Amino acid sequence: MITKYKMKADELGIPVKTETEATELIVEDGKVVGVKAKNTAGQDLTFKANKGVILATGGFGANIEMREKYNAEYGAEYLTTDAAGTTGDGIVMAEAIGAQLVDMEYIQTYPVCNPETGVISLLADSRFDGAILVNQEGNRFVEELERRDVISRAILAQPGGYAYQVWTQHIGEIGGTLEAHQEEFEMLEKQGLIHKAETIEEAAEFFNVPVDALKATIERVNTFAANGKDEDFNHRAGLVAMTEGPFYIQKAVPSIHHTMGGIVIDVDTHVIDVNGNVIPGLYAAGEVTGGIHGSNRLGGNAIADITVFGRTAGVNAATAQ
Ligand SMILES: Cc1cc2nc3c(=O)[nH]c(=O)nc-3n(C[C@H](O)[C@H](O)[C@H](O)COP(=O)(O)OP(=O)(O)OC[C@H]3O[C@@H](n4cnc5c(N)ncnc54)[C@H](O)[C@@H]3O)c2cc1C
Repeated sequence: MITKYKMKADELGIPVKTETEATELIVEDGKVVGVKAKNTAGQDLTFKANKGVILATGGFGANIEMREKYNAEYGAEYLTTDAAGTTGDGIVMAEAIGAQLVDMEYIQTYPVCNPETGVISLLADSRFDGAILVNQEGNRFVEELERRDVISRAILAQPGGYAYQVWTQHIGEIGGTLEAHQEEFEMLEKQGLIHKAETIEEAAEFFNVPVDALKATIERVNTFAANGKDEDFNHRAGLVAMTEGPFYIQKAVPSIHHTMGGIVIDVDTHVIDVNGNVIPGLYAAGEVTGGIHGSNRLGGNAIADITVFGRTAGVNAATAQ
């Protein structure tokens, strides 16, 4: 997406300043007319904006202090799937000039991430094709297609606060996850966080999971798959039999993924102040805003959010009087 947007920006001659951090909104006579910034060369810069400033600085998933400030549950014990720049700067800058914030306590975790880096596991999308989650004792503990928050909390409630995702070559081929995420597989393998095994015994032994327990769990899954009914957790898509290897076992933890709270905007993306009035000259779009996704964003909806409201903000700021 970024490649395409960058091509379009270049075609239109729109300058993009990287390594440049916006630090403050400039307000004159109650209207936002620009931003102050600094670059990595240590220069202080001022950008004047005749028609308006659009805040599109993303959420605050990578800002531990800010997470703790708004919801003590999501402190330093969590890593994050987010880029390092997801620091909530736009929210802080807007709040400093009186913008209204909403839903700041709603923070979303993604359940299956790298326990060392926090990076989201796309290889583990095999969960959507029948992979199961087990704990260190080799037992299932949650329906694998539950909501992100439900699975995350269930994983944290297990011994050690982590889980293993287990699947077969066949499951990894149903949706093409193994082929699509080969690089991630190799990285996890180097980190000792995934193992491809010929047998269930070998998979269990790699992570010291009791062999008999894991075998019993998989046998039970195979029975439920044959009967078409998961009697333990009511897997909504129906479990998939795991009769033939190779087997994959991957260690995973939940990681901070999205912040639903942020700046209040109206349908035209104007930023709203604490008294409910539009702040002239200021627009916001994307994860920096709040109230769009309620308490728990549905996967996929952020791209719709940033595209729709980003375009609205651009059009409105460009055509403002
Ligand atoms: C790993 C991962 C996978 C995801 N997958 C999906 C998916 O499949 N579907 C979906 O809908 N959503 C997905 N999301 C969520 C979605 O990608 C984000 O919500 C969305 O990208 C937010 O876009 P944004 O433009 O608002 O902010 P961002 O994409 O976060 O961009 C904000 C930019 O502003 C910069 N910035 C921050 N502060 C400053 C400052 N002071 N000065 C200058 N620049 C600043 C940041 O460095 C960053 O480059 C995913 C998120 C992650 C992390």
